[in-house]
Amino acid sequence: MSLPSKCEYLIIGGGIHGLSTAWHLCKKLSSKGQLKEDSVVVIEKTQVGEGATSVACGIVRNNYYQPAMRRLMAHSVDVWNSNAEVLQFRPVGYMQINSQLMHEGMAEVYSQQKEIGYDSTFIEGAADCDKYMKDLPDWQAQGITSVLHEKNSGYGPNRGANLGFKKLAEAAGAKILEGVQATNLVTANGSGRLVL
Ligand SMILES: Cc1cc2nc3c(=O)[nH]c(=O)nc-3n(C[C@H](O)[C@H](O)[C@H](O)COP(=O)(O)OP(=O)(O)OC[C@H]3O[C@@H](n4cnc5c(N)ncnc54)[C@H](O)[C@@H]3O)c2cc1C
Repeated sequence: MSLPSKCEYLIIGGGIHGLSTAWHLCKKLSSKGQLKEDSVVVIEKTQVGEGATSVACGIVRNNYYQPAMRRLMAHSVDVWNSNAEVLQFRPVGYMQINSQLMHEGMAEVYSQQKEIGYDSTFIEGAADCDKYMKDLPDWQAQGITSVLHEKNSGYGPNRGANLGFKKLAEAAGAKILEGVQATNLVTANGSGRLVL
């Protein structure tokens, strides 16, 4: 695939963010009837999914402490579930298993999840947590006083998921070029020129 001499949107880096951005951008342009052959181009200096994405644990969850993340992550988890096959997503759920130290924070996360209708269960108290966790045959940990169980979360293999995002971006009309590195960006008179 050849490098176009110009394009409307250039995304530098074919990690999960670059590819997802390319996919969503193409869908948006297409819905407005504005998508052209070289509208969205992604350049990746090695291969897609070779950066941080290649070493991520692959967990897709919604229990970050920042309240502002709650709706955003709920939206992201929906994207994973709606495209589970191509992204190789496994919606097995996610359990945040806490000692007393994290109880208050996770109770707050749970109440925010309820507020937005994110499907989860919060178990409190050592005895109830032990009972809940004993559904797993090997469970032995002590000192657990709360469990936040998210039902629609899960995990995806990092490289497999990234290749899935590549497929979705290409199918939506993005051009993805591997082995192309940006070395400088020169701007003059309001237009950008990329040095490769
Ligand atoms: C150990 C670890 C575990 C993690 N676990 C999780 C997890 O369980 N769940 C979760 O949601 N997040 C997790 N994360 C965070 C997650 O991995 C990152 O947020 C995500 O992968 C970042 O994606 P990215 O596309 O922004 O960056 P990257 O995946 O790093 O992609 C950037 C790409 O840009 C390319 N590039 C760089 N410079 C240039 C250039 N000049 N020209 C062309 N290409 C260039 C690189 O080669 C790379 O492929 C984890 C991170 C780490 C390190």
